[in-house]
Amino acid sequence: MTTDSAFAELTRLIKRAHTLGTVGELLGWDEQVNLPLGGADQRAAQQAALAEAQHAAASEPRLGELLAKLEKPARELTDDQRAVVKNARRDYDRATKLPAEFVREKAAQGSRGYHAWARAKAADDFPSYAPVLETNLELAKREAAYLGRGDAPYDHMLDKHDPGLTAAAVEKLFDALKRELVPLVREITASPVAARARAAAAKLRGFPVEGQRAFLREVTERMGFDYARGRIDVSLHPFCSGTGSDVRMTTRFNADAPLDALFSSIHETGHGLYEQGLPAAHLGTALGIHAGMAMHESQSRLWENQVARSRGFWRCFEPRLRELFPAQTAAVMADELYLAVNAVEPTLIRVEADEVTYNLHIVLRFEVEKKLFSGELAVRDLPAAWRAASRELVGLEPANDREGVLQDVHWSDGAFGYFPSYCLGNMLAAQLWYRALALRPELDADFARGDFSWLLGWLREHIHAQGRRFDALELARRVTGEELSPRPLVRYLRERYGGLYL
Ligand code: ZN
Repeated sequence: MTTDSAFAELTRLIKRAHTLGTVGELLGWDEQVNLPLGGADQRAAQQAALAEAQHAAASEPRLGELLAKLEKPARELTDDQRAVVKNARRDYDRATKLPAEFVREKAAQGSRGYHAWARAKAADDFPSYAPVLETNLELAKREAAYLGRGDAPYDHMLDKHDPGLTAAAVEKLFDALKRELVPLVREITASPVAARARAAAAKLRGFPVEGQRAFLREVTERMGFDYARGRIDVSLHPFCSGTGSDVRMTTRFNADAPLDALFSSIHETGHGLYEQGLPAAHLGTALGIHAGMAMHESQSRLWENQVARSRGFWRCFEPRLRELFPAQTAAVMADELYLAVNAVEPTLIRVEADEVTYNLHIVLRFEVEKKLFSGELAVRDLPAAWRAASRELVGLEPANDREGVLQDVHWSDGAFGYFPSYCLGNMLAAQLWYRALALRPELDADFARGDFSWLLGWLREHIHAQGRRFDALELARRVTGEELSPRPLVRYLRERYGGLYL
C-alpha cells in the first residue's frame, strides 16, 4: 500500500466520523431551537444512538492500522499530511483508550449533573450539588489517567480544549494580566464617567424585537457572514454550531437591552465566520477544523470587541440604528450611545460582565479549578473560596451561591479547563488586532464606510484557512511574530477605556 493510498483511506474514515459528529451537532441545535417540550426523551435516544455510531466510526480498528503505517519514520509525508496524521492520532487515542463503560458512565453523569446543577442553582443549595462535583472531578482524573496524563490531570483538561496548553503557561499569562487589570478596573469604576455610561445604557429601552432582528441581520451580513451557508435563530443561551456550508448561530432578544442581542449576535458571527472560512474540501481533517477553543474565542471576541465597540463601527451603524428606532434613541446623544456600548461595571455574574472585568471572572475560575485538581481545595470549601476570590478580583462578594459558585453550567457535566479559553481568546484577539492595525492603519476608516473586507480577508488567509495545521499558540506566533502575551490586551483596554474614562 502506498503512502498516498493509505492517506486517502485515512482521510475518508476521519471524514465519515466527523460527518456523524456534525449530525449530532445539528440534533443539539434543533433541541435548543425547535424541539417540542414532549420530544426530549426521543431526542435523548437519537443522540445516544448517534453517539454510539460516531464512537464506532472514530475507533474503527482500520484507522489504527492506517495510522501505524503512516507514522512509520521512513514514510514520506508532506507537512499537511503530517498535521492530519498527528491530529487523527490524538482523536483515535481518545476514542480507543477510554473504556466504553467509562464513556457511558461519564455521559450519564453529565446528564445527571446538569439537572442536579439546575436544581441546586434554583434552590441556592450548594450542598446538594457538592457530591456531583466530587464525582465529576474524580471522573476527570480517571480520564486523564486513561490517556496517560494521570500525573497532570488539569493539564489534560486544558489540552482537551486547546491542544498544547498547560496550567503553568496559563498561570504565567493570567498572573501578569491580573496585576494590570485589577488596578485598571478600580480606576475606571472610580471615574465619574462610569455613572454616565450606566445611565446612557439604561436609556435604551423598548426596542421591538422585529427591528432588532432586521438591524443585526444587516450588521452581520455587512461583516461578511454568508446567509446562504448559515442562519441565525433564537435560543435561551446564544451559541454557534455547525461548520463549512451550514453554520447555525443563535441569539436572544430583550426589548429593554437591545445591545445584548446585537453584541451576542456579533460574537456568534465571529465564530460563524471562522467556521465558514475553514477550507471546505478538508472539513473534518486537521486542514479543515478550527485550531482550538482559544483561537475560536479570539475570532468571536475580535469582532465583538475590537471591531464592534470601535468609533468607526458606530459611525457606520449609528445612523441606521436611529433610523430604525427613532423614538427609542431620541434621548441618547451620539457620545452617550458610544459610552453605553462601552459601559464598564463590575458584576458578580460572568456572562453579564463587560470586556474589561470579564477577564477577572476567568482568572477566578482558573485559580479555583487549579486548586481543585491539586487537592489544595476541597469541593465542600468551594463556596467560601469563591466568595474570597470574587472579593479580591472582581471587588464584589456574592450574597448567595447562586450568584457565586453555582452560576456557571460548565462543571456540571465535567467541562473543567474550558474557562481559560475565553480569556486566552481575549489575549489572542488583542494581539491579532494590533498586527492587523500595523498592516492596515486605516481599519477604523474602513469600518466607518461599512467595509470589513480587508480584516475578514486577512483573518481568512492567516487564521481560517490554516485549520489546525498548528496549535493555537504556534499559529499566533506565526501570524503576529510574537509569543502569546497579555500585554496587547492590557494595551488595548488602556487605550479604549482609558480614552473614555480616565
Ligand atoms: Zn464564544
